Amino acid sequence: MELTITTASTLKPKPADDQLGFGTLFTDNMFSMDYAPDQGWHNARIEPYQSITMDPATMVLHYGQGVFEGLKAYHTESGAIQLFRPQENFRRLNNSCRMLCIPSFDEADALNALKELLRIERDWVPKAPETSLYIRPTIVAMDPFLGVRASHTYRFFIILSPVGAYYAEGFNPVKILVTKEYVRAVRGGVGEAKTLGNYAASLLAGEKAQKAGYTQVLWLDGVEQRYIEEVGSMNIFFVIGDELITPELNGSILPGITRDSVLKLAQSWGMRVSERKVGIDEVIKAHGDGLLTEVFGSGTAAVISPVGELKYDETVITIGGGEVGPVSQKLFDAIKAIQYGQGEDTMGWIEPVD
Ligand SMILES: *Cc1c(COP(=O)(O)O)cnc(C)c1O
Repeated sequence: MELTITTASTLKPKPADDQLGFGTLFTDNMFSMDYAPDQGWHNARIEPYQSITMDPATMVLHYGQGVFEGLKAYHTESGAIQLFRPQENFRRLNNSCRMLCIPSFDEADALNALKELLRIERDWVPKAPETSLYIRPTIVAMDPFLGVRASHTYRFFIILSPVGAYYAEGFNPVKILVTKEYVRAVRGGVGEAKTLGNYAASLLAGEKAQKAGYTQVLWLDGVEQRYIEEVGSMNIFFVIGDELITPELNGSILPGITRDSVLKLAQSWGMRVSERKVGIDEVIKAHGDGLLTEVFGSGTAAVISPVGELKYDETVITIGGGEVGPVSQKLFDAIKAIQYGQGEDTMGWIEPVD
C-alpha cells in the first residue's frame, strides 16, 4: 500500500497528563483512505486532523452502515510505545465489515499505517500511570444516496485521543441493573459486529439504569431473556465456586479481545475456565448458595470492571462485600503489566511501534 504523508503545520497544545478525560481531545494528524468499486481501497494518507465534509444524503447518516474499533497505545517505562494485540482489532473490524456488506481491507497494511501514524504522533502518548492513547479506526458508507442498499463508496479513518486513567477514583466495584425490558441484540442480528446502530440501540436502557442509580445495564439474551450476554459494552465473567465462567460466543455477543485475554491468562494459571450459557437464575441461585464470589466486566477501556451489586426485578444481590475479588485483581494487574511493559509478554501479545 502506498501511503502519502502530509502532517499538520501548526500543532495543538498538548494537555497535561492529569488533565485527560476520555474521548474529548484528538491529536494533530489522522489516517484516511477511500474505497471506490473501480479502485478498491486507495488514496491511503496521513493528513492533518480535519472534518469530513458530507452530502446530507450520505448513506451512513441515514442507514448506519458503519463499523469501528477501539484499542490503545501504551507508553512503557523505557520510553517505547506499544500496542496490545492490534492484529485482533483489525481482524474483528474486517468481520464487522463482512456483516455490514462493507468491502474488506488488508489488515497488515492497516496495522502498518497505524504504526506510522503513531510514530508521527508519539509525543501524544501520555506517560502517567494508566494513561494511554486511545485509537479509533472507523469505516463509513459514503454514497450520497437515499434508498436501502449497500453503499458503493466508503471512507476508512483512524483518529487518536489521549485518555486518562479509567480508575481515577480507584478500582471500585460498580452497581449493575439487569434489564428485562430491553435487549441489545438478537439471534441472527448484528450483535457480534462493532457497528454503529448497536450503540444507539443501547442508549435508552443505559439512561434508565443511570436514573435508577446503576452504572450499567446487564443484557440478557434477545430470545428467552434468561441467559446473560454482556454488561454495557463489556463482556462479563462470573466466579462460581472454582469455575470462571463467561457466556459462550453465540452471534449476539461481541467477541472482546480483553475477554479472550482473560480466558487465556486464567487457563494458563490452571484455573477452571468455561465458555457456556449462564442463566440469570443460575447466578442468583449461586449467590444464594454462597458460591458466587466475583463478577466483573472486561473491555479495552477499563480492562477489568468489578461488579459489586446486581439488581434483577426485586432481587438485589451484593457480591464480594464491596471489595475487589482476588481473581479480578490478579487479571487486572497481569493484563496491565503486559500492556505497559512491566511484566513479561509470555503470550506474545505486544506489538512494538518503533
Ligand atoms: C468493544 C466491545 C466489547 C469489548 O471488546 P474489547 O475488545 O475487549 O475491548 C464488549 N462488548 C461490546 C458490545 C463492545 O462494543
